[in-house]
Amino acid sequence: MAELTLDSVTKVFNDGGSDEVVAVDDLSMGIEDGEFLVLVGPSGCGKSTTLRMIAGLETVTDGEIRLGERTINDSSPADRDIAMVFQSYALYPHMTVRENMRFGLEESTDMPDDEIRSKVEGTAAMMGIEDLLDRKPSELSGGQQQRVALGRAIVRDPSAFLMDEPLSNLDAKLRATMRTELQRLQADLGVTTVYVTHDQTEAMTMGDRIAVLDDGVLQQVGTPLECYHTPNNRFVAGFIGEPSMNFFPTARSGDTLSAEQFTYPLPEAVASSLGDATEVTLGVRPEDVEVRPAVDDLGDHDFACVVDVVEPVGESNNVYLRFADAPEGETFIATISGMRNVAAGDRVGATIPPSAIHLFDDRTGAALR
Ligand code: ATP
Repeated sequence: MAELTLDSVTKVFNDGGSDEVVAVDDLSMGIEDGEFLVLVGPSGCGKSTTLRMIAGLETVTDGEIRLGERTINDSSPADRDIAMVFQSYALYPHMTVRENMRFGLEESTDMPDDEIRSKVEGTAAMMGIEDLLDRKPSELSGGQQQRVALGRAIVRDPSAFLMDEPLSNLDAKLRATMRTELQRLQADLGVTTVYVTHDQTEAMTMGDRIAVLDDGVLQQVGTPLECYHTPNNRFVAGFIGEPSMNFFPTARSGDTLSAEQFTYPLPEAVASSLGDATEVTLGVRPEDVEVRPAVDDLGDHDFACVVDVVEPVGESNNVYLRFADAPEGETFIATISGMRNVAAGDRVGATIPPSAIHLFDDRTGAALR
């Protein structure tokens, strides 16, 4: 079993000093045996520090990290049975690919030489790098170096993989290919994996579950779809999804939300679930905003808008809309099918369907529905 558990893990840098930084704050989560968990969040939120504590490259200020039943807080990195893959690849430049791959096995096991050779060659074949075994890292492309770095982790047959933005130095096309390949590889090997990225698309497409961090604090752990459809709070709602959810600050009175540009009546069942919240942010995903040419016959949830900019993105368009009476510049986004004919300056009707809205309490950011 290689279940990984973080129990109230905290990391304070410069503990007690004048510029103390709480990089990770009371983080608790379990990563199941064989699971692919993606740790995602903006720059500086504590992702790398979390990973480095699991790897043993950083001490834990408070709390406990367990691999299976074993507490590993005080184990040396070499004794943890965990392999880490870095963004920079961290290959030894003076060693060949073969030597780089052998190194970990020679250091941490007393495996006989011919067994090491056959493991290295088997893994190299699996990674498609068998022709590169006698080259030095400087003689490889970025993508090849990445494969070697992964191969070096895999050959050790560890209980867990830790990956810190391993694809971010690759170009967009190769990154997309490697994402799929990594997922397949991880599923085949069945090794518990924690993968760090600041890229929500990577998180959404790769993780069995994702853990969203902000400012050292865990905001939500769930499947990509759970985090997308039922975000715990405004931060997760805004971070997950591309383009981001539209947010409108409103004042609530009974079952009516009043924003600067519009009033929005809430269905009674929704309004009654909001408790005493009076400052409420209304959120709607761009793909849930419906756009139609006519601006007459506006219903309660339809608004007269002007198209500001149309941004084609492959199959669809991101349409930046302005409420017809709003000053220039204040826009929100609707994503519509690329086949539709909408141009800047068009007057359109935009519908924000009550079934698609998200509501957040402005005092806490917590989701109200
Ligand atoms: P990025 O995506 O930019 O790599 P991250 O989410 O991985 O960011 P961390 O590198 O874990 O974030 O940093 C978390 C916080 O801890 C930041 O405020 C950072 O400045 C701080 N920090 C990280 N390492 C140290 C250190 N050795 N000493 C002091 N503060 C540190």
